[in-house]
Amino acid sequence: MRKLITLAFSFLVMASWGQQNYFQQEVNYTINVKLDDRNHFLYGDEKFDYINNSPQTLQYIYIHLWPNAYKNQNTAMAKQLFRDRNYVFFNALRNEKGFIDSLDFKVNGQKVDWKLDDEHIDIGIIYLKEPLAPGKKCTITTPFRVKLPSGSISRLGHVGQSYQITQWYPKPAVYDAAGWHPMPYLTQGEFYSEYGSFDVSITLPSNYVVGATGNLQTKKEIAFLDSLAQLPIVNESTMKADTTLPSSSKWKTIQYKQRNVHDFGWFADKKWNVRKGEVVTPYTKTKVTTWAMFTPQNADLWQKSIEYINDATYYYSLWNGDYPYTQVTAVDGTISAGGGMEYPNVTVIGNASSEQDLETVIMHEVGHNWFYGILGSNERDHAWMDEGINSFNEDRYMITKYGEDKKGEARMSKLMAAIDLGRMNARDVSMLTYLLTASYDFDQPLKCHSNDYLSINYGANVYKKTAVVFFYLQQYLGEELFDKCMQHYFSEWKFKHPQPKDIEDCFEKISGQNLDWFFQSFIESNGKADFSIRSAKNKKQADGTTQVVATVKNYGSITGPCNVTTVNKDGKTQTQWTAPLAPGKKGKVYFDLKDNVKIDKVIVNYDTVIPEISYKNNQYRMRRLLPKNEKMVLRGLTGLPNRDRTQIYLLPAVAWNSYDQWMAGLMFHNQHVLNRQWQWMAAPMYSFGQKDLVGVYSAALRWKKFQFGAQGRSFHSGYQANLLSSSSNGHQFAEKYQWNQQYIKWTSKGDPAQYHKGYKTEIMINYITVQSDIKSDIELFQVVRKRNFIQAHFNTQWKIGNRASVEYAFHWSANTDVKNLGSQRMTTFNYSYQYHPTKDNRKFQLNFFSGANNNQLLSLWNPAGMTANMDYSFSQYYFGRSEYDGILSRQIAPGYGQLMANTNQYFNLRLMSLNAMLRLPADNVPVSVFVSGAAGFQRNSPALLNVSEGEITTSYLWSGGFIVHAFPGIMDIYVPVYVNEPNPNLLTKKGKFNIWKNVMFSLNIPAMNPFNLVTKTIAR
Ligand SMILES: [Zn+2]
Repeated sequence: MRKLITLAFSFLVMASWGQQNYFQQEVNYTINVKLDDRNHFLYGDEKFDYINNSPQTLQYIYIHLWPNAYKNQNTAMAKQLFRDRNYVFFNALRNEKGFIDSLDFKVNGQKVDWKLDDEHIDIGIIYLKEPLAPGKKCTITTPFRVKLPSGSISRLGHVGQSYQITQWYPKPAVYDAAGWHPMPYLTQGEFYSEYGSFDVSITLPSNYVVGATGNLQTKKEIAFLDSLAQLPIVNESTMKADTTLPSSSKWKTIQYKQRNVHDFGWFADKKWNVRKGEVVTPYTKTKVTTWAMFTPQNADLWQKSIEYINDATYYYSLWNGDYPYTQVTAVDGTISAGGGMEYPNVTVIGNASSEQDLETVIMHEVGHNWFYGILGSNERDHAWMDEGINSFNEDRYMITKYGEDKKGEARMSKLMAAIDLGRMNARDVSMLTYLLTASYDFDQPLKCHSNDYLSINYGANVYKKTAVVFFYLQQYLGEELFDKCMQHYFSEWKFKHPQPKDIEDCFEKISGQNLDWFFQSFIESNGKADFSIRSAKNKKQADGTTQVVATVKNYGSITGPCNVTTVNKDGKTQTQWTAPLAPGKKGKVYFDLKDNVKIDKVIVNYDTVIPEISYKNNQYRMRRLLPKNEKMVLRGLTGLPNRDRTQIYLLPAVAWNSYDQWMAGLMFHNQHVLNRQWQWMAAPMYSFGQKDLVGVYSAALRWKKFQFGAQGRSFHSGYQANLLSSSSNGHQFAEKYQWNQQYIKWTSKGDPAQYHKGYKTEIMINYITVQSDIKSDIELFQVVRKRNFIQAHFNTQWKIGNRASVEYAFHWSANTDVKNLGSQRMTTFNYSYQYHPTKDNRKFQLNFFSGANNNQLLSLWNPAGMTANMDYSFSQYYFGRSEYDGILSRQIAPGYGQLMANTNQYFNLRLMSLNAMLRLPADNVPVSVFVSGAAGFQRNSPALLNVSEGEITTSYLWSGGFIVHAFPGIMDIYVPVYVNEPNPNLLTKKGKFNIWKNVMFSLNIPAMNPFNLVTKTIAR
């Protein structure tokens, strides 16, 4: 009985507390290193004491040898860069690569066995001869040599004689309650290291300026830096013309020491300006020395760098806890892994585009001293704990320092300002960045491993989503309580390895609230927030005062509280929060009216605190007939969603075809910068050729994986002058068509984390109506022809590895009007292989097509490709829909028949074709070669409409030639040079094949469906 109680009790404790029996290892380093700045090598000797504080006996120690990440194309870093289409390392020359060697590990003075990890050459395993018991210490030594790679690859390296010495020495992996954490070096994905102390002595030519982790011990070097800090700043105009600064023949050895850090980075350059400052921490009043080191090229931009470092140190201390070290340095480097990179006490900053940009990067990197340096979470597994919470502090810093209204106009072009993007502060930018990925639903949960993020999501989710959801939490808890929680987390976990549960526990303990909703909703899932107001009612109280009761509903897929604000006639506001609401749940808030001042509006998410994917129905206007109605406004281009207004956007629209000639009009649409569930557009245009109204429209509603939509087109499609020429006698004939489609589409939503492998399936059911009107001033020729089609379409695509993909599609179409007019089936199978490792367009493609008819009146098969007269369901836009000769008749939709040459043969039963295309391996010649073969089957049926009986004849056709990719993705030109059975009408006078008369082209006009255009551009 007693046992049972203890068991239940310990479960309870486990459930409420993160890490039980917490321990952490300790590693204390002494490193001597010499820089060879001629050959770009480091020569080092390392000794470290490894203290086993775990309750386990260790048989081996994992050790990171990260310079080996730069050794060859098989390392995890090489593969990741390649996957993310960064080809700098792939194209790196031999001497731009790097490695670590000359290792000879000894444990307590004795040589030991060690080896490289089987999979990752930047991880080693040291086998201990004597197992290391709990509480015991061993001393490990090794010499090492590092070949420094080019600094343009990732974090370690050199650009000329500017050195960024990071992730450079052999370093044990973390051993914690979950066991060993060996990890290969990655560019996208950071680190996890043991705390301890560093004693590092660096030997290098004496005219180098060095910025490093730790406190400088060498008196002479301190004096050297102090003297540099007094010199006037050298900028580009005062810089000596001769920019090569030879290294001094004298050498110096400078020593740094630091405790309670988990890494050591150093940076060296001979040209740096040095500036020194000081800041006092807000609580312990500790003096912190600040250093800025920057090149003459960036000197003007870096003028206020000390101010940025000081302010960052001050604000981070104020909000999170005092800076526990005594120096902060920022150096101007040529970092290639993002805008800057953090190391304890020292940060390296990349080239910035403006002062604002530079301040943001410096303060962000300095801020990492807290979220990475002092709070040593596992960055690889839980990147939101460092990058995300740091980004939250970054937005807070910019807004605290420059005000809510400090907008980024300076960085935005006029166009950006016109579409609302110029009026944003740092937090608005974070919000928009996150919502872009969320509205298109390719955002990923924050719990993902760093290497599993799409590179866009690593920024937009790990950094920006965390920043906005912590702002939401801060506003919900209130700033004061939030800061107390964060400060508690800081003091509990400083110089330790906190896990996600630990930060949750700290927040719950201090706030006294269950915050599962926050961590479940925003860390574990990629659910979306969306609240709306349902009603707001006046209610008389017993004491005669009035109370307003507002009801809100959670339309999103996360659980969270919702804030409701009342706005009085005089503009005064009052805000209240609901309790956290589960999806679909309603909540109420009550406002007592003070002095009976009437409330004008009740607004959900008034200050845009909640990252909602829709602001629809966020406002309730009291005493109005239609209280939820928003004002409608017309605007140019596009813009951001707006709570107060229904915005309709306007764009000029222009089009052309042979019959309408030029057309001009306006496109109206409701698509703002974020994707939305309900989209529509309409572009009415005036046809100058026909003096008539034409145009396109579409409307679609997304719901989960479904899309329900309608779209249509109406244009003129011919004069019919040919057909009617004998009777036309100067009369006017015009044919106009109206094409309408209603559809349901289902699209599989692959896990974005699987994007690099990738598959996508789409199933679509269409109902199409095509109506053609022939108008004439002769009544007899006024004809209306109407046909209906039902179509089903299945398409699936796989990526096979990085370079090959396969696509299979099946399309079935039936005419629903006339019973015997039957159906048509098409199957396509495409294989594509990118034969060049880094150039996307260097492809080899194999395309198979098979089409079968059961009635020839639906359409015949043209082996050239789908020409306008084959497009019975009007699915494509043709410049000359009714043309039988001339250039406009040669527009084809590729992928149907694939001869790409006119044979003047058509088949009523079946067509099969196989086509191979190879893009030429030349950059400036956008040309492919193709060969195609087709087999056409014709039933010479006794009954005109019936192809189920009669003799079948078969024709074999083949062709070859070139494809000129005139406007890639929009227009291709097909130039056949050989066809075995050319069209007899297109021969030269001498009866030979005429290439020019056989040239065909294809057009892909995305404007005919602007939604796809927007989606594709952003999702890429
Ligand atoms: Zn960062």
